[in-house]
Amino acid sequence: MRVAIVGGGIVGLASAYYLADRDVSVAVYEKDSIGGGSTGRANGGIRAQFTSPIHVRFSRESMPVWGSFEKTFGVEIGYRRTGYLFLARTEGTAEHLRENVARQNDLGVPSDYLSPSEAIEHCPGLYADRYVGAAYSPTDGFADPHLALQGFLRGAGEAGAEIHTGVEVTDLQVRDGRVERIETEDGVSEVDFVVNAAGPWAGEIAEMVGLDLPVSPRRRQLLLAEPEPPLPPDAPMTVDVDESVHFRPESDGAAIVGGRNADGDPEHDPDRYRTSNDPDWTVDTLERAADVATYFGPETAVVRGWAGLYTVTPDHHPIVEEPIPGFVNAVGFSGHGFMHAPATGQVVAELILDDTPETVDVSPLSADRFERDAELHEGTVID
Ligand SMILES: Cc1cc2nc3c(=O)[nH]c(=O)nc-3n(C[C@H](O)[C@H](O)[C@H](O)COP(=O)(O)OP(=O)(O)OC[C@H]3O[C@@H](n4cnc5c(N)ncnc54)[C@H](O)[C@@H]3O)c2cc1C
Repeated sequence: MRVAIVGGGIVGLASAYYLADRDVSVAVYEKDSIGGGSTGRANGGIRAQFTSPIHVRFSRESMPVWGSFEKTFGVEIGYRRTGYLFLARTEGTAEHLRENVARQNDLGVPSDYLSPSEAIEHCPGLYADRYVGAAYSPTDGFADPHLALQGFLRGAGEAGAEIHTGVEVTDLQVRDGRVERIETEDGVSEVDFVVNAAGPWAGEIAEMVGLDLPVSPRRRQLLLAEPEPPLPPDAPMTVDVDESVHFRPESDGAAIVGGRNADGDPEHDPDRYRTSNDPDWTVDTLERAADVATYFGPETAVVRGWAGLYTVTPDHHPIVEEPIPGFVNAVGFSGHGFMHAPATGQVVAELILDDTPETVDVSPLSADRFERDAELHEGTVID
């Protein structure tokens, strides 16, 4: 069996690893360099504090892989479980967090609802008097997306996958209702399966086989700041829900800070969007961070900033399916594609080899859910 994967991001490489590990002949085609899409611009957050059971399942199946990553792949990815701390300024948001915690506990996630004075134990610089309550889970954390890409790249290569970088997939051919050929800048190959792991370009790849996917690239910005005092290395990913601003520790007391855009969140062309920060966004985001904790203020230096694309679907859940025999979509991961890549890679391999995936039941994730009125719901989306 021969499988071609379109995209050398975290989803494509994890899929390549899990397929090659099961002795499938795999070729990954990446038009740019490894991580040239969304993955190389991600924050690396890994959490199970979702409200949708299917998201929790993806997290719970992925976290053990992140936990044993160095042992499996020989690459240290800086995985730190310092938790995610969600903060509520209003009673309404606090009530929402309380409900989320109850739902998560039912799903086996060890999150807790905290008072502001308990929250400050996790984030010592927090202006606790601005908050009504918080939610915290100690098993959440983050890792370095670039290093994780290197790990899956190495694992896939060692398991026998071919990795072609700088090679664009230009067309796909379907015959008698089955995908049978992939055309790239390097030539044409016969294939048994094609995996669409093209991130923000996923809609273009689906169009090659006549599918119209409801995936939309939306721009998100991050900045690397030098807080004063330095952000403790064991501080959690701290998310002010009402103000839509978040930060987490990087190395040497630095922080990665992000938050909402004030531009109406339009769709962007993945080949033509601004990959640097907007100066107004940077000022506004740091001002909002300065209202959360003592680490940020007028003295905070900005080391660098960047923008990337979330590939969103209308219900913030991915599309994972085989809509045409031989054509698998693993797309639309919104802000969760990095953390969920290990489970996604396993599911892609199971869709191809076993028909019915065991790692996660992805039957609710087919694209036709949007026509069947079977959309899913996620109550904890971070911009
Ligand atoms: C600012 C920001 C912060 C984020 N933070 C987090 C986070 O904290 N946690 C988390 O889990 N997720 C986060 N995400 C989301 C995460 O980055 C994505 O969900 C994930 O990286 C998607 O991976 P992917 O492999 O599907 O796509 P990508 O990494 O975009 O890879 C797709 C690849 O396909 C290639 N490609 C496209 N078309 C073709 C073609 N025709 N031929 C060959 N190659 C092609 C592209 O060049 C690209 O490299 C964040 C995203 C952004 C932008």
